[in-house]
This record gives sequence, C-alpha cells and structure tokens, in this order.
Amino acid sequence: MKVITVREKILKANSQAARENRARFSRKRIFVINILGSPGAGKTSLLERFAQTGGIAFSVMEGDPETALDAERMEKAGASVVQIITKGSCHLDANMVQAALPRSDLDGKDFLFVENVGNLLCPASFDLGEHIRIVVLSTTEGADKPFKYPAAFKTAQSVILNKTDLLPYIDFDLDLFNRGVAQVTPKAKVFSVSCRTGEGIDELVEWIKKLKK
Ligand code: MG
Ligand code: ZN
Repeated sequence: MKVITVREKILKANSQAARENRARFSRKRIFVINILGSPGAGKTSLLERFAQTGGIAFSVMEGDPETALDAERMEKAGASVVQIITKGSCHLDANMVQAALPRSDLDGKDFLFVENVGNLLCPASFDLGEHIRIVVLSTTEGADKPFKYPAAFKTAQSVILNKTDLLPYIDFDLDLFNRGVAQVTPKAKVFSVSCRTGEGIDELVEWIKKLKK
C-alpha cells in the first residue's frame, strides 16, 4: 500500500510547474529572486529602494492575498510589475507564477523579483522556479525568528535585516539574531539595511548585480 498525503501531492504538482518556470527563466536569461518575509518586514520598500538606486534592470511580481496596493507602489517607483492576488491564500505557488508570466514584462530585464505573500511559514515549502531566495526580517519582529522559522531561513541565500534605523529605540538582540543565522543558515549572506534611510542598500544592490553572470 502506498499512502500519499494531500500535502505531498500538492508539492509534487508544484515541483513540476517550478521546473517548467525555471526552464523558461533560463531561456529568457532572467535571474529570479523569491523574496520571503512577514507582513510589514519591508519587502516592497526594499524593491522601491532598488528602483530608486538603479543599476538593476528588473521586473516585479507582487503576491498578496488581496489588493494591488503593492503593485501601485512599484508602478509609482517606475518598475514594471504584475500583481498576483491569491484570494486569501497564504503563499505563492509555481502555478500562480506560471499563470502570471505572460503578463510579465521581461524584455531587456536581468532580474525578476517575486515578492511572496507576507508569511514566514508555507512560502518556504513552495519552489516557484526561482534561482535564489532572500528573506527579509525587520528589527521590530524580534531577533528569535531564525530559530522559530528555520525553513524560511534555511533555504535563503541571503538574510536582510531591515529597519536598522530603529535599533537605538527597541530591544533587538543582535547577538541572538547572529547566533540564529549562524546556526540555521550559516552560508547566507547577511545585509543590514534601512529602507527608510537607505543605509546599506548600495552594498546589497552590488551583491545582487553579481548574481547574474
Ligand atoms: Mg509587500
Ligand atoms: Zn500558505
């Protein structure tokens, strides 16, 4: 007897679509970054900063349970963007990305940033066909998150600590955060940024530019 749980089936179907997406991205020579993080961590703010800073030719896919508010922000920032509204689903899957691709403007772009639904749990289980993942954590969320949500951090090639401008005003345990990253995702490249002040953004942009060879 073979028992396959619903979750296994879903993930299997997702892997197939993710493979197709990855093949398509390679053909188009586009490097895809899946951005994970809690609601309010600063995922969209980071993308706004990338648009302002320049130097990266990119397109954006926004994932949200409702509204096109983030796509409106990206448009205002001058980026080409497609909004995926998941109608309450708490993560993007590879099929949603595949369905949105024909509407995505990838011509002349080097990168596609896929901003996942704000959630540190299940987005980690769904391969979208991306090349790498980055996870954005803001100082206001607390330093223990790498320990509490290891799946999201483990699969990320970079951890971006945002809202560093607030550090003097809050009790964020930097030492605990560093220990969490070292234990859960020791190979991840860590960046400290403030999307509000722009601190640390240039260094991050330089790192991203080098990802696509
Ligand atoms: Mg957002
Ligand atoms: Zn979910």
